[in-house]
Amino acid sequence: VFAHVVRAPEDPILGVTVAYNKDPSPNKLNLGVGAYRTEEGKPLVLNVVRQAEQQLVNDPSRVKEYLPIVGLAEFNKLSAKLILGSDNPAIQENRVTTVQGLSGTGSLRVGGEFLARHYHERTIYIPQPTWGNHPKVFTLSGLSVKTYRYYDPATRGLNFQGLLEDLGSAPSGAIVLLHACAHNPTGVDPTLEQWEHIRKLVRSKALLPFFDSAYQGFASGSLDADAQSVRIFAADGGECLVAQSYAKNMGLYGERVGALSIVCKTADVASRVESQLKLVIRPMYSNPPIHGASIVATILKDRNLYNEWTIELKAMADRIISMRQQLFDALKTRGTPGDWSHIIKQIGMFTFTGLNSDQVAFMTKEYHIYMTSDGRISMAGLSSRTVPHLADAIHAAVTR
Ligand code: PMP
Repeated sequence: VFAHVVRAPEDPILGVTVAYNKDPSPNKLNLGVGAYRTEEGKPLVLNVVRQAEQQLVNDPSRVKEYLPIVGLAEFNKLSAKLILGSDNPAIQENRVTTVQGLSGTGSLRVGGEFLARHYHERTIYIPQPTWGNHPKVFTLSGLSVKTYRYYDPATRGLNFQGLLEDLGSAPSGAIVLLHACAHNPTGVDPTLEQWEHIRKLVRSKALLPFFDSAYQGFASGSLDADAQSVRIFAADGGECLVAQSYAKNMGLYGERVGALSIVCKTADVASRVESQLKLVIRPMYSNPPIHGASIVATILKDRNLYNEWTIELKAMADRIISMRQQLFDALKTRGTPGDWSHIIKQIGMFTFTGLNSDQVAFMTKEYHIYMTSDGRISMAGLSSRTVPHLADAIHAAVTR
Protein backbone atom coordinates (compact mmCIF):
# COMPACT_ATOMS: atom_id res chain seq x y z
CA VAL A 1 0.00 0.00 0.00
CA PHE A 2 2.99 2.31 0.30
CA ALA A 3 4.61 1.45 -3.03
CA HIS A 4 3.59 4.81 -4.51
CA VAL A 5 5.45 6.82 -1.83
CA VAL A 6 8.15 8.93 -3.45
CA ARG A 7 11.42 9.61 -1.70
CA ALA A 8 11.45 12.98 0.06
CA PRO A 9 14.53 15.19 -0.26
CA GLU A 10 16.96 15.33 2.67
CA ASP A 11 16.51 18.29 5.00
CA PRO A 12 18.81 21.00 3.56
CA ILE A 13 20.60 21.53 6.90
CA LEU A 14 20.55 18.07 8.51
CA GLY A 15 21.30 16.57 5.07
CA VAL A 16 24.74 18.20 5.20
CA THR A 17 25.63 15.92 8.12
CA VAL A 18 24.31 12.88 6.26
CA ALA A 19 26.69 13.68 3.37
CA TYR A 20 29.54 14.41 5.80
CA ASN A 21 29.09 11.07 7.57
CA LYS A 22 29.46 9.23 4.25
CA ASP A 23 32.77 10.94 3.40
CA PRO A 24 35.77 8.71 4.31
CA SER A 25 38.35 11.57 4.11
CA PRO A 26 40.36 12.09 7.34
CA ASN A 27 40.40 15.86 6.67
CA LYS A 28 36.63 16.25 6.42
CA LEU A 29 35.06 19.15 8.25
CA ASN A 30 31.38 19.63 9.07
CA LEU A 31 30.40 23.30 9.26
CA GLY A 32 26.78 22.62 8.39
CA VAL A 33 24.85 22.01 11.58
CA GLY A 34 24.83 24.63 14.30
CA ALA A 35 26.14 22.60 17.19
CA TYR A 36 28.99 23.74 19.41
CA ARG A 37 32.28 21.86 19.26
CA THR A 38 35.35 22.21 21.48
CA GLU A 39 38.80 23.14 20.21
CA GLU A 40 39.29 19.37 19.85
CA GLY A 41 36.22 19.17 17.64
CA LYS A 42 34.17 17.29 20.25
CA PRO A 43 30.57 17.89 21.39
CA LEU A 44 30.42 19.58 24.80
CA VAL A 45 28.27 18.75 27.81
CA LEU A 46 28.48 21.74 30.14
CA ASN A 47 29.86 21.14 33.60
CA VAL A 48 26.79 22.73 35.16
CA VAL A 49 24.58 20.34 33.24
CA ARG A 50 26.56 17.36 34.60
CA GLN A 51 26.24 18.79 38.12
CA ALA A 52 22.52 19.41 37.77
CA GLU A 53 22.01 15.87 36.44
CA GLN A 54 23.96 14.49 39.38
CA GLN A 55 21.71 16.38 41.79
CA LEU A 56 18.63 15.05 40.04
CA VAL A 57 19.90 11.47 40.14
CA ASN A 58 20.76 11.72 43.83
CA ASP A 59 17.37 13.10 44.80
CA PRO A 60 15.12 10.13 45.72
CA SER A 61 12.02 12.33 45.65
CA ARG A 62 12.45 12.71 41.87
CA VAL A 63 10.00 10.53 39.99
CA LYS A 64 9.13 10.09 36.34
CA GLU A 65 5.47 11.05 36.50
CA TYR A 66 3.85 12.97 33.66
CA LEU A 67 4.30 16.71 33.71
CA PRO A 68 1.21 18.89 33.34
CA ILE A 69 0.25 19.78 29.73
CA VAL A 70 2.07 23.11 30.05
CA GLY A 71 5.20 21.50 31.50
CA LEU A 72 7.25 22.12 34.63
CA ALA A 73 5.86 25.20 36.42
CA GLU A 74 9.19 26.20 37.95
CA PHE A 75 10.95 25.89 34.60
CA ASN A 76 8.33 28.05 32.91
CA LYS A 77 8.60 30.82 35.47
CA LEU A 78 12.39 30.87 35.39
CA SER A 79 12.47 30.80 31.58
CA ALA A 80 10.19 33.83 31.31
CA LYS A 81 12.42 35.71 33.75
CA LEU A 82 15.55 34.72 31.87
CA ILE A 83 14.37 36.15 28.57
CA LEU A 84 12.17 39.04 29.72
CA GLY A 85 14.24 40.08 32.75
CA SER A 86 13.05 39.45 36.31
CA ASP A 87 12.12 43.10 36.82
CA ASN A 88 9.97 43.16 33.70
CA PRO A 89 6.59 44.75 34.52
CA ALA A 90 4.73 42.15 32.44
CA ILE A 91 6.04 39.41 34.74
CA GLN A 92 5.31 41.37 37.89
CA GLU A 93 1.78 42.01 36.65
CA ASN A 94 1.24 38.31 35.86
CA ARG A 95 0.46 39.09 32.23
CA VAL A 96 2.83 36.50 30.80
CA THR A 97 1.85 32.93 30.17
CA THR A 98 4.67 30.46 29.59
CA VAL A 99 4.43 26.86 28.45
CA GLN A 100 7.27 24.39 28.11
CA GLY A 101 7.93 23.41 24.50
CA LEU A 102 9.89 20.83 22.53
CA SER A 103 12.92 23.09 22.22
CA GLY A 104 12.75 26.16 19.98
CA THR A 105 11.07 24.38 17.08
CA GLY A 106 8.21 22.97 19.15
CA SER A 107 7.69 26.30 20.89
CA LEU A 108 7.46 28.10 17.55
CA ARG A 109 4.98 25.51 16.32
CA VAL A 110 2.72 25.78 19.38
CA GLY A 111 2.81 29.57 19.07
CA GLY A 112 1.99 29.33 15.36
CA GLU A 113 -0.94 26.96 15.95
CA PHE A 114 -2.32 29.17 18.70
CA LEU A 115 -2.17 32.24 16.44
CA ALA A 116 -3.81 30.40 13.55
CA ARG A 117 -6.73 29.50 15.81
CA HIS A 118 -7.14 32.64 17.89
CA TYR A 119 -5.56 35.63 16.20
CA HIS A 120 -7.41 37.69 13.63
CA GLU A 121 -4.53 38.11 11.12
CA ARG A 122 -3.11 34.90 9.67
CA THR A 123 -0.13 36.36 7.82
CA ILE A 124 3.32 36.06 9.31
CA TYR A 125 6.26 37.99 7.89
CA ILE A 126 9.61 36.23 8.19
CA PRO A 127 13.00 37.72 7.29
CA GLN A 128 14.58 37.03 3.92
CA PRO A 129 16.61 34.87 4.42
CA THR A 130 15.80 33.01 7.61
CA TRP A 131 16.29 29.64 9.29
CA GLY A 132 15.04 27.10 6.72
CA ASN A 133 12.52 25.55 9.07
CA HIS A 134 10.59 28.78 9.74
CA PRO A 135 8.43 28.79 6.59
CA LYS A 136 7.55 25.12 7.04
CA VAL A 137 6.72 25.42 10.73
CA PHE A 138 4.43 28.39 10.22
CA THR A 139 2.77 27.12 7.05
CA LEU A 140 1.93 23.84 8.76
CA SER A 141 0.67 25.81 11.77
CA GLY A 142 -1.98 27.24 9.47
CA LEU A 143 -0.44 30.67 8.89
CA SER A 144 0.28 32.29 5.58
CA VAL A 145 3.98 33.11 5.23
CA LYS A 146 5.38 36.24 3.59
CA THR A 147 8.88 37.67 3.73
CA TYR A 148 10.38 41.04 4.58
CA ARG A 149 13.74 42.25 3.30
CA TYR A 150 16.51 41.72 5.84
CA TYR A 151 19.92 41.04 4.36
CA ASP A 152 21.79 43.13 1.84
CA PRO A 153 24.26 40.96 -0.12
CA ALA A 154 26.11 44.07 -1.34
CA THR A 155 27.09 45.23 2.15
CA ARG A 156 26.76 41.80 3.78
CA GLY A 157 24.85 43.71 6.42
CA LEU A 158 21.30 44.68 7.32
CA ASN A 159 18.97 46.07 4.66
CA PHE A 160 17.40 48.36 7.23
CA GLN A 161 15.61 50.54 4.71
CA GLY A 162 14.10 47.51 2.99
CA LEU A 163 13.03 46.06 6.33
CA LEU A 164 11.27 49.29 7.33
CA GLU A 165 9.57 49.58 3.95
CA ASP A 166 8.31 46.00 3.97
CA LEU A 167 7.05 46.04 7.55
CA GLY A 168 5.63 49.51 6.90
CA SER A 169 3.53 48.18 4.05
CA ALA A 170 2.44 44.97 5.83
CA PRO A 171 -1.28 44.83 6.65
CA SER A 172 -2.13 46.16 10.08
CA GLY A 173 -2.06 43.35 12.66
CA ALA A 174 0.26 41.07 10.69
CA ILE A 175 2.58 38.84 12.71
CA VAL A 176 6.31 39.57 12.38
CA LEU A 177 8.93 36.96 13.15
CA LEU A 178 12.09 38.52 14.61
CA HIS A 179 15.30 36.75 15.54
CA ALA A 180 16.05 37.96 19.07
CA CYS A 181 19.81 37.92 18.42
CA ALA A 182 22.42 36.17 16.26
CA HIS A 183 20.24 36.04 13.17
CA ASN A 184 20.44 32.67 11.45
CA PRO A 185 21.81 32.30 8.76
CA THR A 186 23.24 35.81 8.24
CA GLY A 187 24.82 36.67 11.62
CA VAL A 188 23.50 40.19 11.04
CA ASP A 189 21.54 41.87 13.85
CA PRO A 190 19.98 45.33 14.08
CA THR A 191 21.71 47.72 16.49
CA LEU A 192 19.85 48.68 19.66
CA GLU A 193 18.96 51.97 18.01
CA GLN A 194 17.56 50.14 15.00
CA TRP A 195 15.59 47.81 17.28
CA GLU A 196 13.98 50.82 18.89
CA HIS A 197 13.05 52.08 15.44
CA ILE A 198 11.57 48.68 14.55
CA ARG A 199 9.64 48.61 17.82
CA LYS A 200 8.04 51.99 17.09
CA LEU A 201 7.05 50.89 13.61
CA VAL A 202 5.67 47.54 14.83
CA ARG A 203 3.60 49.21 17.53
CA SER A 204 2.36 52.05 15.35
CA LYS A 205 1.10 49.54 12.78
CA ALA A 206 -0.24 47.18 15.48
CA LEU A 207 1.91 44.36 14.10
CA LEU A 208 2.35 41.38 16.43
CA PRO A 209 6.01 40.58 17.20
CA PHE A 210 6.95 36.91 17.53
CA PHE A 211 10.56 36.52 18.71
CA ASP A 212 12.64 33.46 18.07
CA SER A 213 15.34 33.32 20.75
CA ALA A 214 17.59 30.37 19.94
CA TYR A 215 20.91 31.95 20.95
CA GLN A 216 20.51 33.96 24.16
CA GLY A 217 23.99 34.37 25.66
CA PHE A 218 25.61 32.71 22.68
CA ALA A 219 25.95 35.86 20.61
CA SER A 220 27.72 38.27 22.94
CA GLY A 221 28.39 35.99 25.90
CA SER A 222 25.92 38.04 27.98
CA LEU A 223 22.42 36.72 28.65
CA ASP A 224 21.11 40.23 29.29
CA ALA A 225 22.66 41.88 26.25
CA ASP A 226 21.30 39.18 23.95
CA ALA A 227 17.79 39.65 25.33
CA GLN A 228 17.65 43.43 24.83
CA SER A 229 15.58 43.29 21.66
CA VAL A 230 12.88 41.19 23.32
CA ARG A 231 12.93 43.23 26.50
CA ILE A 232 12.27 46.57 24.86
CA PHE A 233 9.14 45.10 23.26
CA ALA A 234 8.04 43.30 26.41
CA ALA A 235 8.42 46.46 28.49
CA ASP A 236 6.26 48.78 26.41
CA GLY A 237 2.93 47.36 27.51
CA GLY A 238 2.12 45.70 24.18
CA GLU A 239 1.74 42.03 23.33
CA CYS A 240 4.46 39.77 22.00
CA LEU A 241 5.39 36.10 21.73
CA VAL A 242 8.79 34.57 22.45
CA ALA A 243 10.01 31.07 21.63
CA GLN A 244 13.11 30.10 23.62
CA SER A 245 15.53 27.26 23.05
CA TYR A 246 18.08 25.83 25.47
CA ALA A 247 19.70 23.77 22.71
CA LYS A 248 22.69 26.05 22.19
CA ASN A 249 23.07 28.10 25.35
CA MET A 250 22.93 25.06 27.66
CA GLY A 251 24.06 22.54 25.08
CA LEU A 252 20.83 20.57 25.60
CA TYR A 253 20.23 19.95 21.88
CA GLY A 254 18.81 16.43 22.09
CA GLU A 255 16.92 17.03 25.34
CA ARG A 256 14.47 19.18 23.38
CA VAL A 257 13.89 21.83 26.01
CA GLY A 258 12.41 25.22 25.28
CA ALA A 259 9.53 27.51 26.15
CA LEU A 260 6.86 29.68 24.59
CA SER A 261 5.90 32.87 26.42
CA ILE A 262 3.00 35.07 25.40
CA VAL A 263 2.95 38.56 26.88
CA CYS A 264 -0.67 39.70 27.16
CA LYS A 265 -2.40 42.92 28.16
CA THR A 266 -3.86 41.62 31.44
CA ALA A 267 -3.46 38.66 33.80
CA ASP A 268 -6.97 37.51 32.97
CA VAL A 269 -6.23 37.39 29.23
CA ALA A 270 -2.98 35.54 29.94
CA SER A 271 -4.78 32.84 31.86
CA ARG A 272 -7.37 32.40 29.10
CA VAL A 273 -4.59 32.24 26.50
CA GLU A 274 -2.91 29.52 28.57
CA SER A 275 -6.12 27.49 28.67
CA GLN A 276 -6.15 27.53 24.85
CA LEU A 277 -2.45 26.66 24.59
CA LYS A 278 -3.30 23.48 26.48
CA LEU A 279 -5.83 22.59 23.80
CA VAL A 280 -3.11 23.02 21.17
CA ILE A 281 -0.60 20.87 23.06
CA ARG A 282 -2.73 18.02 24.38
CA PRO A 283 -3.57 16.37 21.03
CA MET A 284 -0.08 17.06 19.64
CA TYR A 285 2.16 15.41 22.24
CA SER A 286 0.08 15.43 25.42
CA ASN A 287 2.77 16.86 27.69
CA PRO A 288 6.49 17.64 27.41
CA PRO A 289 9.46 15.59 28.64
CA ILE A 290 10.62 16.07 32.21
CA HIS A 291 14.38 15.55 32.19
CA GLY A 292 15.69 18.54 30.22
CA ALA A 293 13.35 20.99 31.92
CA SER A 294 14.47 19.70 35.33
CA ILE A 295 18.11 20.27 34.37
CA VAL A 296 17.37 23.84 33.28
CA ALA A 297 15.30 24.63 36.38
CA THR A 298 18.01 23.22 38.65
CA ILE A 299 20.59 25.50 37.06
CA LEU A 300 18.45 28.63 36.86
CA LYS A 301 17.32 28.53 40.48
CA ASP A 302 20.72 27.87 42.07
CA ARG A 303 22.89 30.95 42.30
CA ASN A 304 26.16 29.03 42.10
CA LEU A 305 25.14 26.87 39.18
CA TYR A 306 23.69 29.89 37.43
CA ASN A 307 26.94 31.83 37.82
CA GLU A 308 28.96 28.89 36.64
CA TRP A 309 26.67 28.56 33.63
CA THR A 310 27.24 32.19 32.63
CA ILE A 311 31.01 31.54 32.73
CA GLU A 312 30.77 28.42 30.58
CA LEU A 313 28.42 30.20 28.19
CA LYS A 314 30.80 33.11 27.83
CA ALA A 315 33.66 30.72 27.14
CA MET A 316 31.68 29.17 24.25
CA ALA A 317 30.77 32.61 22.86
CA ASP A 318 34.38 33.78 23.18
CA ARG A 319 35.74 30.73 21.40
CA ILE A 320 33.38 31.40 18.50
CA ILE A 321 34.43 35.06 18.38
CA SER A 322 38.09 34.03 18.35
CA MET A 323 37.40 31.66 15.44
CA ARG A 324 36.04 34.65 13.52
CA GLN A 325 39.26 36.56 14.09
CA GLN A 326 41.46 33.58 13.21
CA LEU A 327 39.61 32.90 9.96
CA PHE A 328 39.70 36.56 9.02
CA ASP A 329 43.47 36.72 9.74
CA ALA A 330 44.10 33.52 7.79
CA LEU A 331 42.38 34.92 4.68
CA LYS A 332 44.28 38.16 5.02
CA THR A 333 47.59 36.28 5.26
CA ARG A 334 46.71 34.39 2.09
CA GLY A 335 45.80 37.61 0.32
CA THR A 336 42.43 36.17 -0.57
CA PRO A 337 40.68 38.66 -2.85
CA GLY A 338 37.65 40.46 -1.41
CA ASP A 339 36.60 42.21 1.76
CA TRP A 340 36.19 39.60 4.50
CA SER A 341 35.49 41.99 7.37
CA HIS A 342 31.93 40.64 7.60
CA ILE A 343 33.46 37.52 9.20
CA ILE A 344 34.40 39.56 12.27
CA LYS A 345 31.36 41.84 12.13
CA GLN A 346 28.69 39.15 12.01
CA ILE A 347 27.26 37.85 15.28
CA GLY A 348 26.60 34.42 16.74
CA MET A 349 27.15 30.91 15.60
CA PHE A 350 27.19 31.45 11.86
CA THR A 351 29.06 33.37 9.24
CA PHE A 352 27.21 34.06 6.03
CA THR A 353 30.35 33.92 3.91
CA GLY A 354 28.98 35.23 0.63
CA LEU A 355 30.31 32.12 -1.13
CA ASN A 356 27.93 30.92 -3.84
CA SER A 357 26.61 27.39 -4.28
CA ASP A 358 29.25 26.56 -6.96
CA GLN A 359 32.04 27.61 -4.64
CA VAL A 360 30.47 25.61 -1.80
CA ALA A 361 30.24 22.53 -4.05
CA PHE A 362 33.89 22.98 -5.03
CA MET A 363 34.99 23.21 -1.39
CA THR A 364 33.05 20.08 -0.52
CA LYS A 365 34.42 18.13 -3.48
CA GLU A 366 38.05 19.22 -3.27
CA TYR A 367 38.48 20.01 0.43
CA HIS A 368 35.83 17.80 2.09
CA ILE A 369 34.33 20.82 3.84
CA TYR A 370 30.58 20.57 4.37
CA MET A 371 28.22 23.53 4.71
CA THR A 372 24.77 24.60 3.52
CA SER A 373 24.68 25.64 -0.14
CA ASP A 374 23.91 29.26 0.79
CA GLY A 375 27.50 29.59 2.05
CA ARG A 376 26.63 29.59 5.74
CA ILE A 377 29.35 28.16 7.97
CA SER A 378 29.06 27.27 11.63
CA MET A 379 31.93 29.04 13.41
CA ALA A 380 31.28 26.75 16.39
CA GLY A 381 32.43 23.81 14.30
CA LEU A 382 35.86 25.37 13.63
CA SER A 383 39.06 25.13 15.67
CA SER A 384 42.55 26.64 15.47
CA ARG A 385 43.62 23.37 13.84
CA THR A 386 40.99 23.48 11.09
CA VAL A 387 41.01 27.23 10.29
CA PRO A 388 43.98 26.95 7.85
CA HIS A 389 42.27 24.15 5.93
CA LEU A 390 39.10 26.25 5.61
CA ALA A 391 41.06 29.35 4.62
CA ASP A 392 42.92 27.35 1.92
CA ALA A 393 39.60 26.09 0.60
CA ILE A 394 37.99 29.56 0.52
CA HIS A 395 41.08 31.00 -1.14
CA ALA A 396 41.03 28.27 -3.80
CA ALA A 397 37.27 28.68 -4.32
CA VAL A 398 37.41 32.42 -4.95
CA THR A 399 40.60 32.43 -7.06
CA ARG A 400 39.62 29.46 -9.18
N1 PMP B 1 15.37 29.09 15.56
C1 PMP B 1 16.54 29.31 15.02
C2 PMP B 1 16.83 30.64 14.41
C3 PMP B 1 17.52 28.33 15.04
O1 PMP B 1 18.71 28.58 14.49
C4 PMP B 1 17.23 27.09 15.64
C5 PMP B 1 18.25 26.00 15.70
N2 PMP B 1 19.03 25.80 14.61
C6 PMP B 1 15.97 26.91 16.20
C7 PMP B 1 15.07 27.93 16.15
C8 PMP B 1 15.47 25.69 16.88
O2 PMP B 1 16.31 24.79 17.40
P1 PMP B 1 15.83 23.74 18.46
O3 PMP B 1 14.47 23.26 18.04
O4 PMP B 1 16.86 22.69 18.39
O5 PMP B 1 15.78 24.44 19.76
